[in-house]
Amino acid sequence: MFNKITLIGIGLIGSSIALAARQKNLAKHIAISTRSEKTLQEAKNLNLGDSYYSDVKQAVKNADLIILCTPVGVFENIMKTIAPSIKQGAIISDVGSVKAHVQKVISPLLPKGVHFVPAHPMAGTEYSGPSAGFPSLFEGRWCMLTPSENQSKMAIKKLSDFWRELGSQVEIMDAEHHDLIVAITSHVPHLIAYNIVGTASELETVSKSEVIKYSAGGFRDFTRIAASDPVMWRDVFLTNRDAVLDMLGRFLGDLDKLKIAVEKGDGAALEELFTRTRAIRKSIIEAGQETSDADFGRHV
Ligand code: NAP
Repeated sequence: MFNKITLIGIGLIGSSIALAARQKNLAKHIAISTRSEKTLQEAKNLNLGDSYYSDVKQAVKNADLIILCTPVGVFENIMKTIAPSIKQGAIISDVGSVKAHVQKVISPLLPKGVHFVPAHPMAGTEYSGPSAGFPSLFEGRWCMLTPSENQSKMAIKKLSDFWRELGSQVEIMDAEHHDLIVAITSHVPHLIAYNIVGTASELETVSKSEVIKYSAGGFRDFTRIAASDPVMWRDVFLTNRDAVLDMLGRFLGDLDKLKIAVEKGDGAALEELFTRTRAIRKSIIEAGQETSDADFGRHV
C-alpha cells in the first residue's frame, strides 16, 4: 500500500502497527523514530522496522505515510520539527486518544499538499513500550478517523484501507463527537479507576498490604486500568478537558443518586440500575468487543 511508512514513537501502539504492517505486507519500508536511544535500540533488537532514526526529520524523508505514535502533548512540537521535511502528497496521521485538540494544533502546521487524516485505534492494553506491541492488537477493534470536511477523499480512503488491512473496523466521524464518545467509554472510566485505586491506597484504616492481599474482586479490575501509562493519560485529560468535564458532571450526578439510594435503603432503585448495567455488558459481548469467558478469560 505504501513505499515508506514512518512511525514516530514506538511504544505499544507504534510497535503493534509496525508488526501488523509487516505481517500484512503493507509497506516496502518501515522507518522508526523515537526520542530515546534506549527505546530505539529496543525497537532494533525487536526488529520492528527497516531503518531507525534519532533524528525525526531524517525519518520522515520520502515517507508516504507518517504516523505520530507518541503522547498527544508532544504532537505539536514534533509537527513543527518535521513539517519542512515532509514530501508533497504524503499522508500524515496519528493514533492519539483525543481528536479535536490534535486537529487544532496540527492543521495550522500542515505544509501545502500534505494530507492530514487523524485516527484513533480503539485498542490497547495497560502495557507500554516497544516490547508491549503485538500484531493482532487491532483485530476486530474500531479505528475512528476524524478528517476535516475538506480533506482529500483519496487520502481518507487510503488510510481507511490501511486500518482495515490491520484488522480494524473503520468509522469516520467528527472530532468533537469522537471526543465525547471516548470521554464516557474510556477517559472517565480511567479517571474513576485512578481515583478508586488512589483512594484505596491512601486509606488509613486498611493497610496497603491488606488491599493488595484481598484484591480479588472489583478492585483488582480497576487496578489494571489504573496501571496505564501516566504520561499518556495526563495528556488525555489535559487535551480533552471539556468533554471529560461534561461526562464527569453527569457521572457525579448519577453517583449522588446512587448514594441516596444506598442511604435510603432503596433496593428497587439499586436493582433497577444493576439489571440495566448487566444488559449493557451482554450487548458489548454480543457486539464482539469482549469475551464472554468468566473473569475476562483470565487463567489462574
Ligand atoms: P507508549 O507505549 O508509552 O510509547 C510512547 C512512545 O512515545 C515512545 O516511543 C516514547 O519514546 C515516545 N515519547 C514519549 N514521550 C515523548 C516526548 N515527550 N517526546 C517524544 N517522544 C515521546 O505509548 P502508547 O501506549 O503506544 O501510546 C501512544 C499514543 O497512542 C498516545 O497518543 C495514546 O493516546 C495513543 N493510544 C494509546 C492507547 C493505549 O491503550 N495505550 C490506545 C489508543 C491510542 P521514548 O521511549 O523513546 O521516550
